[in-house]
Amino acid sequence: MKNTRVLISGASIAGPALAYWLRRYGFTPTVVERAPALRPGGYKVDLRGVAVDVVDRMGIGAQIRARATDMRGGTWLTGAGKAVATLGGDAIGFRDPGDLEILRGDLAQILHQETSDEVEYLFGDAITAISESGSGAHVTFERAPSRTFDLVVGADGLHSGVRTLSFGPEPQFAQPLGMSIAVFSVPNHLSLDRWEMVCTIAGHIANLYSLRPSADATAQFLFPTPQRPPDRHDLHAQHRAVADAFAGHGWEVPRLLAAMPMTRDFYFDSLAQISMPSWSSGRIVLLGDAAYCPSPASGQGTSLALVGAYVLAGELAEAHGDHHTAFPRFEQEMRPFVELNQKLGRDAVKQMVPATRLRAWAQLAMMRMMPYMPGKARVIEKIMEPIREAANAITLKTYAQALR
Ligand SMILES: Cc1cc2nc3c(=O)[nH]c(=O)nc-3n(C[C@H](O)[C@H](O)[C@H](O)COP(=O)(O)OP(=O)(O)OC[C@H]3O[C@@H](n4cnc5c(N)ncnc54)[C@H](O)[C@@H]3O)c2cc1C
Repeated sequence: MKNTRVLISGASIAGPALAYWLRRYGFTPTVVERAPALRPGGYKVDLRGVAVDVVDRMGIGAQIRARATDMRGGTWLTGAGKAVATLGGDAIGFRDPGDLEILRGDLAQILHQETSDEVEYLFGDAITAISESGSGAHVTFERAPSRTFDLVVGADGLHSGVRTLSFGPEPQFAQPLGMSIAVFSVPNHLSLDRWEMVCTIAGHIANLYSLRPSADATAQFLFPTPQRPPDRHDLHAQHRAVADAFAGHGWEVPRLLAAMPMTRDFYFDSLAQISMPSWSSGRIVLLGDAAYCPSPASGQGTSLALVGAYVLAGELAEAHGDHHTAFPRFEQEMRPFVELNQKLGRDAVKQMVPATRLRAWAQLAMMRMMPYMPGKARVIEKIMEPIREAANAITLKTYAQALR
């Protein structure tokens, strides 16, 4: 086996999942993560279709099921806060039986626990430069001394540092979807218990959920990106953008906005997809959101990260570490799967957030009628069809012969 020393940037989902598989195949991965430590909890993410197969092959399916959100369901509301429909947990999350939902931080913690005995993690650090030569990729860090690796993997998310260093500035590859998202913890004043509330007002969604009455709730706001988007590092400008977008809205919105400046964890970003002509260059390859972010609107970013990690490691092992063979094969396997899921994300933005009051009204009317529709199951089935197709649009190869 050649090229066994692999540096992975990013310790969320794609990075540790790749480290897991590489270790099993006899590589020596090192993971560098900018954050000083793992961040627990956070927002909930889905694992659908083939991704569930991947976590079962990793042997962590049972742990994920034990920590699944197990949401009972949710209520759809008018802008004024009047309940119009109630759906079960799987239906409101557009999941098939067998699909899973877990907090992103919990999944990251499981992946870290599974790998930390055998994988070197460098928290609170980041790559500052990568230069390649015949003998390897020479990497300098913000804090750690320079080192040489055989391969470098950018699994460092939508705003990937490896992508910027080795492929070009983000705007070259990012395709904004015209919407912004804010997510933060708030007191669970409605005592929501594995319950979600979704309030849709033309072009805007305010969402509130909690996993336990005794735990904080998570508020999530989705809205059209303002003409002058706030700076990614300017917290106050981001707070202002959310408050401006939802000014005058009813339901619990004023209370949630009032809690926003006091929250302990505020996440803000514009929804975007990453589209690149190639995911690799020489000894460097991108994985997960860094390479092919489908956006949170697709609900498939976590699944793509997990499946991509499985395929990249498997192809590297099968090619005995030869990246000239493995990187193009990884891309060939993953591209059609990624493209279908990215389309899902673009379509979801159009459907989730009705652009006009008339469409918002039509959406609410449909939700209101849903419980009485003789074909209710058929309506949900119709929504599920493209999601199910995209979530299963890859046949996993078996790389077992490459296992140590
Ligand atoms: C609000 C929200 C809701 C979502 N809902 C869903 C959902 O329902 N279903 C779903 O499948 N997906 C969902 N997603 C998307 C999902 O979280 C991502 O697609 C998934 O986490 C991608 O994993 P990743 O490991 O590729 O990247 P990320 O999870 O973005 O992780 C990147 C990691 O790299 C680190 N990093 C960044 N820059 C550097 C650097 N320069 N050096 C070192 N480390 C760095 C970051 O700190 C982070 O730990 C949602 C996302 C958001 C924001």
